[in-house]
Amino acid sequence: MDTTVLVIGGGATGAGTARDLAMRGVDVALVERGDFAGGTSGRSHGLLHSGARYVPGDREGAEECIAENRVLKRIAPHCVSDTGGLFVQVSGDDPEFFEEKRAACEELGIGTEELSAEQAREEVPDLADDVERALRVPDAVIHPTRLTVANAADAREHGATLLPNTEVRDLLVEDGTVRGAVVDDGSGERELRAEHVVNATGAWAGELAAMAGVEMEMAPSSGVMVAVEYDGLDTVLNRARPAADGDIVVPHDEQVVLGTTSVDVDDPDEFERDDREIDRMFEECGAMLSGLDPDRIDRVYWGVRPLYSADRERHAGRQISRGFYLLDHDERDGVSGFSSIVGGKLTTYRAMAEATADHVAERVGREGECSTAEEPLVGHDAPGRIDELVAEFEANNPADSDVIGSP
Ligand SMILES: Cc1cc2nc3c(=O)[nH]c(=O)nc-3n(C[C@H](O)[C@H](O)[C@H](O)COP(=O)(O)OP(=O)(O)OC[C@H]3O[C@@H](n4cnc5c(N)ncnc54)[C@H](O)[C@@H]3O)c2cc1C
Repeated sequence: MDTTVLVIGGGATGAGTARDLAMRGVDVALVERGDFAGGTSGRSHGLLHSGARYVPGDREGAEECIAENRVLKRIAPHCVSDTGGLFVQVSGDDPEFFEEKRAACEELGIGTEELSAEQAREEVPDLADDVERALRVPDAVIHPTRLTVANAADAREHGATLLPNTEVRDLLVEDGTVRGAVVDDGSGERELRAEHVVNATGAWAGELAAMAGVEMEMAPSSGVMVAVEYDGLDTVLNRARPAADGDIVVPHDEQVVLGTTSVDVDDPDEFERDDREIDRMFEECGAMLSGLDPDRIDRVYWGVRPLYSADRERHAGRQISRGFYLLDHDERDGVSGFSSIVGGKLTTYRAMAEATADHVAERVGREGECSTAEEPLVGHDAPGRIDELVAEFEANNPADSDVIGSP
């Protein structure tokens, strides 16, 4: 046996799972075909949700977000910019929606404060003229490459083996049990044997599961983000209306990231990237913030949400639940030694990892409590250390490349 647990997929979820297991003393290897965070994590919007976006519709999702928002501000201050956020009501938006959101936030303990248009403009002078009022919420900005690398490096400090730039080409299945994987790091294929294999490949989870003969239907959905040079926005902006295209602006140091859309796609690698989605970001985000200039675009990127098909069955369109699913393929498909973790959000990656590690630790007969909500991530107390780690792993992803700099 090469390792006790093989985690496949070095996004936030897989890196978080490897960290959690390693901290419990489990021997673990983490395999990623590209760079850490090179999948959806490093192509996301980078909003550390407070949960306010999900109420009044999804109370459970909101509760999960506010809990993890507080944990991540504590354990990963070097990966978070604690900017706060505003939900802005624009002329024509239903004022009742604003009231319902505020009431639901209060009920869940998500702190809010109502600002008049004038008060909001004192904080954000470039707010669009049509903004009527705003609700302050504890949203923040999270830098996914830093976060994912911090989790991977922390796993390594606890004994995990990290294998970036290593693709899983096949799974080893013997007598109905997954026994490891065939991997290739560019120097040829080799076998990596494990007692248990975790599929944390996000939008690609269906393809990986098929290597074990398991059918798992994903419902990936793409979204565009546009990073524009912009000075003077220090808080996240959300539109106070039911979730729609172009209703979030995320501030970076000297840029803002506009997003996003939601388009169902068949293949997470090959899908149409329509320039009209970019124009739409300027139209919609421009209703909240003035001065966004298409001539000052720094980069445009698309990401693919790792939604599981049960999401699509339960919810239609934009109201889709983005909760997560832990699939035990022994119970579900009669294939033992194999589990998948899909869905969720960057904000809730740690909770997803905890649920996965609880399940896997039990399967491999390990006791030990999760401590990832209490123990800060590596680099939290050493300025610059996290960017050295990002450079060491040559991780460079569009979600935060302007902030962390090119390695
Ligand atoms: C447009 C958009 C905006 C979003 N914005 C936000 C936001 O603001 N806030 C928020 O909380 N969430 C956001 N999300 C959701 C969030 O980004 C994802 O839910 C989360 O990052 C998924 O992480 P993951 O680790 O599960 O998947 P990924 O990050 O995709 O990781 C899976 C990894 O598996 C690897 N892999 C695949 N196949 C193989 C193989 N055969 N061998 C080895 N490795 C393999 C991939 O390369 C990839 O790196 C957004 C998503 C999208 C698409």
